[in-house]
Amino acid sequence: AVEFDHISKDYGDLTVLHETSLRIEPGELFALIGPSGSGKSTLLGMLAGFVPPSYGAIRVDGTDIVAVPPYRRNIGMVFQNYALFPHMSVAENIGFPLKMRGCSRGEIAERVKRALAMVRLDSMGERRPAQLSGGQQQRVALARAAVYDPRLLLMDEPLGALDKNLREEMQEEIKRLQRALGATVIYVTHDQQEAAFLADRLAVMRAGMLEQIGTPRQLYEMPGTHFVASFLGEAS
Ligand code: ATP
Ligand code: MG
Repeated sequence: AVEFDHISKDYGDLTVLHETSLRIEPGELFALIGPSGSGKSTLLGMLAGFVPPSYGAIRVDGTDIVAVPPYRRNIGMVFQNYALFPHMSVAENIGFPLKMRGCSRGEIAERVKRALAMVRLDSMGERRPAQLSGGQQQRVALARAAVYDPRLLLMDEPLGALDKNLREEMQEEIKRLQRALGATVIYVTHDQQEAAFLADRLAVMRAGMLEQIGTPRQLYEMPGTHFVASFLGEAS
């Protein structure tokens, strides 16, 4: 499980997370939603290791990871600006995290092949990112995050740059990928419908606090506060 234990984050006088506690179960797809500036990316950044907490513990499977450097955390990440390396082929892009980890050529080739199949881009390995559509590029980013079988996948607005039809297609893709990996996914989105479709549970954040946590059904049927009700009711 992933546990945030009374995590706080201050930037000078500004407190952007207030003693946040949250437990996410293994294999869960957990969505974080909430207004801009509410602290969603900060929470993910702490798990990834880019944002040191000011206070509190973060445990993965019972071990405090706060002192573990980002590259040792074995966490896959996909962001809105997925930043593929333009001068590398699709296969090289996907294999890059493995190369960084010192895997052998044979192992890299094997795993890249599997990852390409997982996102249904089997025949695209030799292309450059610029020769792919936006959705295909995003699938490459998913494959790159999944290539070393991370136990945890963090996604921050991964579909934010895509149009509506493609978003829906990619939501299916993300579900399939998660099932194939059996990974725990923490998923940040501005899109309430997307969160409700994808998530086993979700949390609504507000000004650095978790306003409500529950299944999509619980939140929609029993919003705990006026804020949650009106936020869920907004068209995204
Ligand atoms: P969005 O939906 O716009 O991505 P968010 O929920 O991801 O928003 P965060 O990026 O986590 O929000 O930011 C939370 C708060 O922390 C914001 O008020 C932001 O301005 C502030 N913040 C983030 N990074 C820093 C920083 N390096 N220095 C100072 N303040 C910061
Ligand atoms: Mg953000």
